[in-house]
Amino acid sequence: MAAPVTSPAAAPAVPWLPRETRWVGGFGLVAIVLLVVCWWQAAGEGDPSDQLPWLNLGTAAVLVYWVLAGRTLARARRRVAERRSAQLAALGSRPWLRSDAPSTPAGDGLVVAAGMTRAHRPECPLVSGKPTSPAPAGAPTCGICG
Ligand SMILES: [Zn+2]
Repeated sequence: MAAPVTSPAAAPAVPWLPRETRWVGGFGLVAIVLLVVCWWQAAGEGDPSDQLPWLNLGTAAVLVYWVLAGRTLARARRRVAERRSAQLAALGSRPWLRSDAPSTPAGDGLVVAAGMTRAHRPECPLVSGKPTSPAPAGAPTCGICG
C-alpha cells in the first residue's frame, strides 16, 4: 500500500495513470475479441457439451477483465480520496479559512493594501507580499479572511 499523501502537489493530478488506461483498454479489447470468437465457435457446435468449453473460455475472459477493471477503478477511487484528503488537510492548516476562527472587527490589527477597499488580516493571501497600512476604522472586512 502506498504511503498517505500529505500535500496536494504530491498526489497525482489524474485518478488513473496512462499505463493503467492502456492495460485496461487493451485487455478490454482482447476480452471482446475472445468473447466474439467464443460465441462464433459455440454457435457452430450442435451438441451443448461441445459448446461448454467455449462458454467457459468466454466467461473467463469477462471475469478476468472485470477483476482487472475493478482493481483499476478501486485504485483510481483511492487516489481521488487521497488527493481530497490532502487538499482538505492543506485547507485546515490555514487558520484564516477555518469557520471557527474568530472574526476580527475592522481597525483591530487589520490592514489594507494600496487600491483595496476591504480590511484584511495581515496573513491573508490577498495582501501577502504587498505593502500594507493599518485599515481605517469602519472599513469593510475581507470576505475571505475576515
Ligand atoms: Zn483577506
